[in-house]
Amino acid sequence: MLVQVALPVPLYRVFDYSVSTDSNVSSNVSLPQIGSRVEVSFGRQTLIGIVVAHIAEADSSVPSGKLKPINKCLDAEPILDASMLKLAYWLARYYHYPLGDVFGVILPTLVRQGKPLDLLITHWRILPHVSDDDFHANAKKQKQQFDMLKLHGERGASEDVLLLEGMERAFLKTLEEKGLIERYIEPKQAPTPVTLAKMPLDLNEEQQQAVNAIIATHEAQRYTGFLLNGITGSGKTEVYLQVMQAVLEAGKQVLILVPEIGLTPQTRARFASRFAAHIVLLHSGMNNTHRLQGWQDCRTGHAQIIIGTRSAVLYPFADLGLIVVDEAHDGSYKQQDTLRYHAADVALYRGVQYNIPVILGTATPSLEHLKLVDDGKLIECQLSTRPGNAKPAPMQLIDARLQSTHQQTTDDGARYDTGLTDAMIGAIRQTLEAGDQVLVFLNRRGYAPVLLCEACGWQADCPRCDAHLTVHYNSQSQYSSYLKCHHCDWQAYIPTVCPDCGSQNLDAKGIGTTRLSENLHAIFANPQTSKELYPIIQIDRDTTRRKDSWENIYQRINQGDPAILVGTQMVAKGHHFPNVTLVCLPNADRGFLSADFRSPEHTAQLMIQVAGRAGRGDKAGRVLIQTLQPDNALLLKLVKDGYLSFARELLQERKMMGLPPYTHAALIRCEGKTLAATMQALKDAIAILPSNHNLAVLGPIDAPMSKKNSRYHAQLLLLAKDRRQLHHVLGHWWQPVLALPSAKYLKLTLDIDPVGW
Ligand code: ADP
Ligand code: ZN
Ligand code: ZN
Repeated sequence: MLVQVALPVPLYRVFDYSVSTDSNVSSNVSLPQIGSRVEVSFGRQTLIGIVVAHIAEADSSVPSGKLKPINKCLDAEPILDASMLKLAYWLARYYHYPLGDVFGVILPTLVRQGKPLDLLITHWRILPHVSDDDFHANAKKQKQQFDMLKLHGERGASEDVLLLEGMERAFLKTLEEKGLIERYIEPKQAPTPVTLAKMPLDLNEEQQQAVNAIIATHEAQRYTGFLLNGITGSGKTEVYLQVMQAVLEAGKQVLILVPEIGLTPQTRARFASRFAAHIVLLHSGMNNTHRLQGWQDCRTGHAQIIIGTRSAVLYPFADLGLIVVDEAHDGSYKQQDTLRYHAADVALYRGVQYNIPVILGTATPSLEHLKLVDDGKLIECQLSTRPGNAKPAPMQLIDARLQSTHQQTTDDGARYDTGLTDAMIGAIRQTLEAGDQVLVFLNRRGYAPVLLCEACGWQADCPRCDAHLTVHYNSQSQYSSYLKCHHCDWQAYIPTVCPDCGSQNLDAKGIGTTRLSENLHAIFANPQTSKELYPIIQIDRDTTRRKDSWENIYQRINQGDPAILVGTQMVAKGHHFPNVTLVCLPNADRGFLSADFRSPEHTAQLMIQVAGRAGRGDKAGRVLIQTLQPDNALLLKLVKDGYLSFARELLQERKMMGLPPYTHAALIRCEGKTLAATMQALKDAIAILPSNHNLAVLGPIDAPMSKKNSRYHAQLLLLAKDRRQLHHVLGHWWQPVLALPSAKYLKLTLDIDPVGW
């Protein structure tokens, strides 16, 4: 017998190797099992791959004299079971991606590097002779960390538990070096059954119906996809929790996908307060060791509740019983490089694999998911009210054409525009004076989006991209003032004179979160002392970059004192700020004017999500939308009739225009040193399309922002009425395209079901 191995090389094939019984080769080489790792020679390299099949030597296309033996078998047992291999094959087929590279995406780095997978975990305990007297009076922090370990008694505790409790790795090390504590290794215990830590809430009727329907499929061990379509604050999480309870009590694992890393600690707290269970967090901020641990916990069944971002949907599970995709409409579920999968689609596939329910929860379903409901592929459960007395905050338009935005005067008498109407400012003041919090949403970080010369019209552009440089300006510190490209991170000093005409009349145009925060400060500070009366808390990628900064901000907000929160889309997602009663959107409706056909859908989702932050506590909330286009039909539809009827109208439009989800798309992107070369490769690609392809072919054209990071991008779009037809053509065409002579030095990528073009 031979083994077929998927190797991490960008080739659409697997490789045959023999299994030598040569006594020189390490003794554990019998026939490696399907789903285990082997080390092989490949050309001059040594690679680690996954055994995907056993075949008879006679069936191999490689002549037996040329067959190479595997070097080493790394696992005695398969590390991937049949369902994981099936998933890998499906991903490779559906996304037209090389199987070996699929494993490269699925497997954590350390697994790919061949690290042994054992089930041992590090514990720490205090050495017997050690007492409190071994600490210097000034080693306070050490003593405090030591005391935390002491609480666990003689046997100490696992490193995971200690880190969760707030011990720091560095201190464990210091204490070890000082001979006060030691580590020891223990095999992992089987998890204890999940118990309830807190009683479930009494459900309202709609929640109960949803819970019953989902639990019924769980009990019948059947796959069903549910669209849990509940307005913001309607208690979707309570539905998840009560379905989870049934699934966990049956001894099965639950996977919860969330869109953002910022959400994971908060989500964890909510689940931990309901269930005493082993909860594992999976997100991109983990180091390799933690990722491996999490992967192992999922695979062996130690993890009972798994909360993760997109890639967690690709993990192996011992006994999965439920998948929840929270905020299922969120764009971050689509991977935008390498294997361009959509986590919600993969979740549904895995639901079918395991015969389990999958819940897609959202207040603003994507048009794709609404179409699946229409096609009978998802069951819709609606939650149309908020529990108790809480009412969804009404949305109100402010016509910014009728009242100009408020002007403010600087110390030296210059006047500037704050970007906020007096009506909005008045509402903010009223809210703060009533002791509540305000959220102002502006989806643009930095100080201003453009630096402009008033004399000649010069604008500061990125030398590497088709984009303006964003002004990052800090009036307190010139060191934190600079120009930056938000696409390639290129940075420059802010010039004092125009590089084209020498004029000093340079002006930052437009408004980002930093500038808005400054303007709000100027408006709301004590006019005599210019001291801050209300904290202004800026929440964007710049202010939350540092580890823990988001948690600190979160705590500050949840203390509940009156404050103004200024945030980008980071604040739109699922956060619960009980004291926010006013949400302001000074220019959120711009997206309705964009050329991208998906922009209205995404703009509306964002607006509704942000609006949903208002009035989530006991007090009623309201939402103010400042607009320069108060009679825009889409905006009016959204404000008057709500998201669902807005979305239904868009869906109708897409149908009429033959756009997704009524057609199926594949986007081919080509990247290279010149635009001409990328266009040529795509033209050559069209030339080799099979003659009866039956697809709509759009392009090639320059990609939006065609120059990025000094590289040029062109694109080609294929649209098909029938999904199978599209995949049939791609199956025959895509590999020859990659082999085109004109594509040789270019990067070609294929995006199935793209979310933007
Ligand atoms: P969503 O996720 O739909 O935006 P949440 O799940 O955060 O909404 O619920 C909003 C609030 O309503 C939470 O404070 C939650 O505890 C509360 N809640 C949910 N269901 C109920 C219920 N049946 N009875 C009372 N309070 C509830
Ligand atoms: Zn100029
Ligand atoms: Zn750039």
